[in-house]
Amino acid sequence: MSDQAVRQHADQYIDGGWRPTLGGGALEVRNPATEQVIATVAAGTAADVDAAVAAARRAARAWGLTTREERLAPLGRLRDGLAARQAEIADTVVAELGSPIGFATAVQAGLPVAIASSYLELLAGYEFQEKVGNSTVYSEPAGVVAAITPWNYPLHQVVAKVVPALAAGCTVVLKPAEDTPLTARLFAEVVDAAGFPPGVFNLVTGTGVEAGAALAAHPGVDLVSFTGSTAVGRSIAEAAGRGVKKVALELGGKSANVVLPGADLARAVNVNAANVFTNTGQTCTAWTRLLVHQDQYEEAVAIAAKAAEKFHPGDPTAPETRMGPVVNAKQRERVRGYIRAGVEQGARLAAGGADAPDGLPTGYFVLPTVLADVTPEMTVAQEEIFGPVLSIIAYRDEEHALEIANGTEYGLAGGVWAADEQTAVAFARRMDTGQVDINGGRFNPLAPFGGYKSSGIGRELGRYGLEEFLQTKSLQF
Ligand code: NAD
Repeated sequence: MSDQAVRQHADQYIDGGWRPTLGGGALEVRNPATEQVIATVAAGTAADVDAAVAAARRAARAWGLTTREERLAPLGRLRDGLAARQAEIADTVVAELGSPIGFATAVQAGLPVAIASSYLELLAGYEFQEKVGNSTVYSEPAGVVAAITPWNYPLHQVVAKVVPALAAGCTVVLKPAEDTPLTARLFAEVVDAAGFPPGVFNLVTGTGVEAGAALAAHPGVDLVSFTGSTAVGRSIAEAAGRGVKKVALELGGKSANVVLPGADLARAVNVNAANVFTNTGQTCTAWTRLLVHQDQYEEAVAIAAKAAEKFHPGDPTAPETRMGPVVNAKQRERVRGYIRAGVEQGARLAAGGADAPDGLPTGYFVLPTVLADVTPEMTVAQEEIFGPVLSIIAYRDEEHALEIANGTEYGLAGGVWAADEQTAVAFARRMDTGQVDINGGRFNPLAPFGGYKSSGIGRELGRYGLEEFLQTKSLQF
């Protein structure tokens, strides 16, 4: 790609319009499949953050007092705008994240439309006030929200924060991930066209250490909603603690998929492979640990290794590709480092490995990898890899399986497969994790999503997600 084709965006969406960055340089956006720079965006500064928070503050009172109908109208146009631009959004996600086009269209661009619709329905029916004895209790907006998002689901993460925040009557400053600012800019264009009052939504692109940290610590922010790594989440929580701000954290995971004896092993393992290789393993809820009974261990390993073949990485713009690259060079090295560490600690490579895939001259590609003979204390069984790596662990009995499943610092998601639902539910209730799929249960946009332990604080999606952005006031009579 020639330099002429590199789009340069030196502006931020602040106070209802696109404004030049205040002193910021440029951040390069790279296509992870071609390794080419495809665009630059403004590297927002603390001054940009100040301007955005000031605009959000000015807009907060009036927007917070709007009726639900006054919020439903622009939110409906926002949802419709996302639906109308789905193809363009999918192409942008392919270009800056490397998601295969099929997945980018259906999930990366499609799912956020469904999430936005679910919030429109909730807002239409939500009770913002109730009588409690001689009091009236009002659910009021939390105020100015800082939304800080990662790159792995670049539109979904934005929609899952911004839409419920706006529905609750909050105003927002969004700081998206460095790797995927173009999708966030498209979102801002859709918000702009939807006709919200100036300052209700603002976008500052930039680095985490500069724009992100300035936003999280800003005294004009009332609530920080963060999705990202546990390490950064801790620093956000510390800053929020000092400022006595509300905080919602969606952090990392090391989720276990537990196949109990009597379950459909082939189905459980195949679904697990798809779960962990989809989006090149860059999914916080991915079932990166498959727990199977020791008597079925080799059978499970063989099924997983065969399933991995279907995810051989390829050009994400090709419709038949099921797995693209990882997001950037650093991530590729990190993932390969984990694979090597696994082997050094005694794991057996059943599929994939740390080598470069054949036939792909450029791109941050990693082979879909299955590690067998993994024991619970190994690094690959404890740390979040955020790449296409499945670790298979043998258990002796149910108690042992539960001990392994609960034996990490994380608790975001999980799966349980059993011959009957009752057995699966009983096991799932003992897992220290926020979400569990029973026998491959389907995604539900109204179900609360969030973590136990170091996986986070608070919930997204559905009523629980809306309520994160509300605070309560009571009037006594
Ligand atoms: P990250 O923590 O590095 O970055 C996330 C966001 O925080 C980015 O916008 C980044 O610019 C910003 N940031 C970085 N340092 C900051 C700082 N000091 N102050 C304020 N903001 C800062 O994470 P990532 O690499 O973008 O995303 C991958 C991680 O996100 C994984 O650990 C994954 O599990 C997690 N994740 C969690 C969920 C969830 O819902 N639980 C969803 C997706 C991703």
